[in-house]
Amino acid sequence: EVVTRFAPSPTGFLHIGGARTALFNWLYARHHGGKALLRIEDTDKKRSTQEAIDAILDALDWLGLDYDEEPTFQSQRADRHAEVANKLLEAGHAYKCFTTPEDLEQMRAEQRANKLPMRYDGRWRDRDPSEAPAGAPFVVRLKTPTEGETSIDDAVQGRVTVRNEEIDDYIILRADGSPTYMLAAVVDDHDMGVTHVIRGDDHLNNAFRQLPIYHAMHEIEGDWEPPVYAHVPLIHGSDGAKMSKRHGSLGAEAYRDEHGILPEALSNYLLRLGWGHGDREEISREEAIELFDLSGVGKSPSRFDMKKLEHLNGCYIREADDARLASICAPLIGSEMDLDLLTRAMPVLKNRAKNTHELAEGAAFLFKQRPLEMTEKAASLLDDGARANLSTLSERLKAENNWTIDALEATTKSLAEELELGLGKLAQPLRAALTGTTTSPGIFDVLVLLGREEALARIDAQAA
Ligand code: GLU
Repeated sequence: EVVTRFAPSPTGFLHIGGARTALFNWLYARHHGGKALLRIEDTDKKRSTQEAIDAILDALDWLGLDYDEEPTFQSQRADRHAEVANKLLEAGHAYKCFTTPEDLEQMRAEQRANKLPMRYDGRWRDRDPSEAPAGAPFVVRLKTPTEGETSIDDAVQGRVTVRNEEIDDYIILRADGSPTYMLAAVVDDHDMGVTHVIRGDDHLNNAFRQLPIYHAMHEIEGDWEPPVYAHVPLIHGSDGAKMSKRHGSLGAEAYRDEHGILPEALSNYLLRLGWGHGDREEISREEAIELFDLSGVGKSPSRFDMKKLEHLNGCYIREADDARLASICAPLIGSEMDLDLLTRAMPVLKNRAKNTHELAEGAAFLFKQRPLEMTEKAASLLDDGARANLSTLSERLKAENNWTIDALEATTKSLAEELELGLGKLAQPLRAALTGTTTSPGIFDVLVLLGREEALARIDAQAA
């Protein structure tokens, strides 16, 4: 059975790269009918916050990524991590290192001066702990292989090989007995039965450090098979540099709140960012589950493009259920809200909107109070001639029994002809009177949505 996990550190929001990693893990599990698990890597007590945990859970939920078990909180498993560290210690795959911080600093200074790579030199690897002063603090380091090389057949990167001498004997248990990320992640992945580790390629180096733990524990206990690794290239900004705040790398919820993006649009965009299926842009969740595989994940970094995201968002807005869109937009518009009217307005509003903010802005005219506030441009359209025409139009509309698009259009057109005006010369002031602006959905849609009474009241307020 395939088991994947998404393992965010709750030190900040779920950024765009994390959201994509979550999506890929989830899709891979669903594609294979396996299990998608969530692990909160909250071992860094100083930087982890409940707020960040809540934001991550909220964002995953918003993106429609559900998990097959309650989340695992890494911090609650410290005893188990220490237990594994002690097994490694007892079996001679790890050792106590009593090097003082001062000595470490000196070692690093020398390496720096000689332009050597900075790594622990293994000075306690073969020493007897009894050589240390009684009661001296120690860390536990993994005894990593010093010769030969290690290869990983990464499902995205292909075969990657590293010389073992490049991997130093790193710390698995700190002086206070707490586990490092490197140990905790492996122990948890093993205990959770994780078969596929899909994560950002900034973790590729860690895979080479984590493998020796699997090998050592396999020797001790058997049944410690390393997972399949898939290291996904990071997302870059439009200028090609690693995605940062400067590029608009925001928390997933900011795409919702600040950019008015629908979750299915963000999810689809993230899928296409780094995974290809021909040149198909719009791919539903169901199709994604059916089609997703690791072989389709590209090896080079992808570039984040807000315009493409907005384009996709526009497509999804047009497909979205009107009542749902209305309930998303309602809080953006304000308190006095006729949700039913807003829902009825959606079909004409959603044709042009790229995001839910534009939808809400487009709908705002419906809920304005009389006398309408006018934009400068709208006010300038309402000169004396225009007001006189509106007055005539108002009479004609009052006589109109059918308050439908077709009837209203016919009436308005025939008046324009009578007055020997282009339709725009009548419709533009009408729009100003009805909406207080110069842009809106089709003017006859506006008349119908406002309804006879409100529409006539708005026209009469400007007519002369
Ligand atoms: N907690 C790590 C991070 O947020 C992920 C570690 C992993 O996937 O192995 O970068």
